[in-house]
Amino acid sequence: MNRRNFLRTMGLGAAVAVSPISFSACGSATKQTARSGKMNLSFEPYELQLRHAFNLAKSQRTTTPDVQVQIEYDGLVGYGEASMPPYLGESVDSVSQFLSKVDLTQFDPFDTENIHEYLESIAPDNRAAKASVDIALHDLTGKIMGQPWYKIWGLDPKKAPNTSITISWQDDPEEMRREIEETEGFKVVKVKMGLGHDKELVERLREVSDVAICVDANQGWSDKGQALDMCEWLSERNCLFVEQPMPKEMLDETAWLRERSPLPLIADEFLQRLPDVQRAAGAYDGINIKLMKSTGLHEAYKMAVLARALGMKVMLGCMTETSCAVTAAAQLAPMVDWADLDGNLLISNDRFDGIKIVDGQVTIPADRPGIGVELLS
Ligand code: MG
Repeated sequence: MNRRNFLRTMGLGAAVAVSPISFSACGSATKQTARSGKMNLSFEPYELQLRHAFNLAKSQRTTTPDVQVQIEYDGLVGYGEASMPPYLGESVDSVSQFLSKVDLTQFDPFDTENIHEYLESIAPDNRAAKASVDIALHDLTGKIMGQPWYKIWGLDPKKAPNTSITISWQDDPEEMRREIEETEGFKVVKVKMGLGHDKELVERLREVSDVAICVDANQGWSDKGQALDMCEWLSERNCLFVEQPMPKEMLDETAWLRERSPLPLIADEFLQRLPDVQRAAGAYDGINIKLMKSTGLHEAYKMAVLARALGMKVMLGCMTETSCAVTAAAQLAPMVDWADLDGNLLISNDRFDGIKIVDGQVTIPADRPGIGVELLS
């Protein structure tokens, strides 16, 4: 099934049953009864199967390591997730080690700031592990309040932007054509660059489609003159913005490029958490927020607010994830200019029903409390 058909299938929104899952006893906290009045966290490794292999320079990747998390409290279950693409430096082991130290029984579910301080005190990094706890907590507290988070934040779901869907260079023109065909129905296509074939890739797309594009150079342009040439060339080809054009260390060169580029520049690899937003302000026009970088929704919300206050654009991205983390991110979508929330579409073993893409637009489940997901039975 290609991505388009897969989307249509998922878009049917068939009723799904919620069934409790029982995780193996690898969780940290001593298992207590669900109605103990205390939060109990458990977790389980869950390998994500990619629908198409990721082509890297010297290898292929067909899976992404992931850890699924749940927090039980008074008969309710909050779901969370940590996804660990290898380049982020976290693993099933590092996430499991972190989570095995987390004891939430000492906190009220709404003690959000103190819980985050506590998570920071366990280890300075482990952002994906922290995100998994944060997402499960938001799911739980939303369920206690009986409201989805976009409503708790007072956001209008109709303001959620279109999401992009990613294509990348394929040596086989047939494969390339198939990948382009699968983007039909999306209003924005994200083009991965910086690995050669940059202009050829856009030209192949333009042979069949005028769809708006955004470009992710993934730090691939290390010469500022070349980067400016590309920005100017792309600005004449219905391109909305360029993500991480230059290596993250080249801040001065990026600021130079920003002064001259006709397209907005968006920080991705440069930026992880809240303090990075201010540092990005002089050299980038906007930021790409991802829950696995920001330690979850609590800090992601603050990052979006700060970026807005600094007059910056905001983009919302994701890793390869199940619909759990992607739907959690979608709760923030009405706050942002651009969304790149296609991570759940890239895997074949999603275990949640959640976000839908309707006519290209991010569509948040309207009446589901918490982060808006239901466990697929
Ligand atoms: Mg990127």
